[in-house]
Amino acid sequence: MAVTTGTSGWPALPVLPDPAMDAVLESGLLPELAHAFGGPFHFLLPDAFDRNLAAMRQALRDADVDGFVYFAKKANKAAAFVERAAAAGAGVDVASAAELREALGHGVRGEHLVVTGPAKDPALLRLAVQHGALIAVDALDELDTLITAAPRGPVRAARILLRVLPPAQPHSRFGMTDAELAIATARCVRAGDAIRMEGFSFHLSGYAIQPRADLAAHLTELCLKARVQGLEAGRISIGGGLPISYTDADSWHTYLERHDKRHFHAGKSFQPSDFYPYHCRKPGAQALAALLAARPEGRTQDLASLLKEAGTTLLLEPGRALLDQAGASVFTVQGVKDRDGYQLVTVDGTSLSLSEQWFNSEYLPDPHLVPREPQAPAGLYPASVGAATCLESDMLTWRKVGFPRRPRTGDLLVYPNTAGYQMDSNESPFHDLAIPPKVVIDRAEDDDRPRWRLDRHFT
Ligand SMILES: *Cc1c(COP(=O)(O)O)cnc(C)c1O
Repeated sequence: MAVTTGTSGWPALPVLPDPAMDAVLESGLLPELAHAFGGPFHFLLPDAFDRNLAAMRQALRDADVDGFVYFAKKANKAAAFVERAAAAGAGVDVASAAELREALGHGVRGEHLVVTGPAKDPALLRLAVQHGALIAVDALDELDTLITAAPRGPVRAARILLRVLPPAQPHSRFGMTDAELAIATARCVRAGDAIRMEGFSFHLSGYAIQPRADLAAHLTELCLKARVQGLEAGRISIGGGLPISYTDADSWHTYLERHDKRHFHAGKSFQPSDFYPYHCRKPGAQALAALLAARPEGRTQDLASLLKEAGTTLLLEPGRALLDQAGASVFTVQGVKDRDGYQLVTVDGTSLSLSEQWFNSEYLPDPHLVPREPQAPAGLYPASVGAATCLESDMLTWRKVGFPRRPRTGDLLVYPNTAGYQMDSNESPFHDLAIPPKVVIDRAEDDDRPRWRLDRHFT
């Protein structure tokens, strides 16, 4: 069970139990891989992806809602997850020609792709039309490009959704206003065979359920109006933003109450509101179920009933929630320095492999310490974790993590549950350091010894 605080009340953020992760940690594989690669690496547990996908599909079935799940590829660059999406007949949400090629190359059917992102490159739009992908149109000029410059001949109509600027997030740079949507809808009607208008889409910042239910109901209504104008308009996409839990409720709330500057190297402080909400009551598929059961503002029915009544298919594009417990990041301790009351550990990689810094924040779940040599557990050893680079600001963890042993050179630090955005969104060969390789471990719990392979890329 989770221990919420260290022996001396030191704030701790242990990750939730994960048998696959435990099996890998106990197998002795990680020190061997660290030796083989001679630097940091990530390992992927794609069985978790399958589980998360199955749970979301079950939530749709339970609510008797016709739905389709696209994996938002930007959350992780590995091939393994796209392979799993293809094998399971799920879709992939891409936003660049390279992502589209990757998805096709790993077996995802063209019609199972959705192309999102602002002001898409004309070459990407052409590819999307050629492969029958659904395109979430973000602006009027993009729609014009599709109508006027779409490839003709044997190629079918451009399949599109119109992306809506969320009324509750009027400063978003994505989506179209009501006035723009009216113009876009009229242009779709006039475009005839060149355009197949399949519905509307949104993607909201934040993780709250109710605003998503409200906006989904609004889009369902937009579909009904567009159908009166002769458009197909049978689907809505609610984007991503299904939250996940990294830690238990107690640890998270205790952390938020107790943390202060003394718990950080150099008195660093972060805005608590900038932290990812590392615990939520209803993560992943449960959040989807809650969304379907929510009653949108001003309605008497829940969202599932509204969708069914309107004959509307629900599309979703989860990234992080499909990757919950699907990977971790491994660093080797290169050196340890003593500071007043804590240690400064330097590892062989950079904070670019733990992307949270992008958001004025840091990745809070406690890393596991894997000692090089067996050592008796002996209390509490707070330590912050710095990168092997020449920047003051390049810290993997400013927080002084309360380790149960004294970290030593040659030990491993394993940052858990990093597959969703953390591990590779921001990686670069800064300082000419190699980009950490990715190792795929299938069926980590079943085999006596976990077997691994390198993640493959075709491009
Ligand atoms: C990033 C993104 C997603 C995925 O968001 P998550 O929070 O990872 O689920 C889905 N759709 C769009 C349009 C996005 O930009």
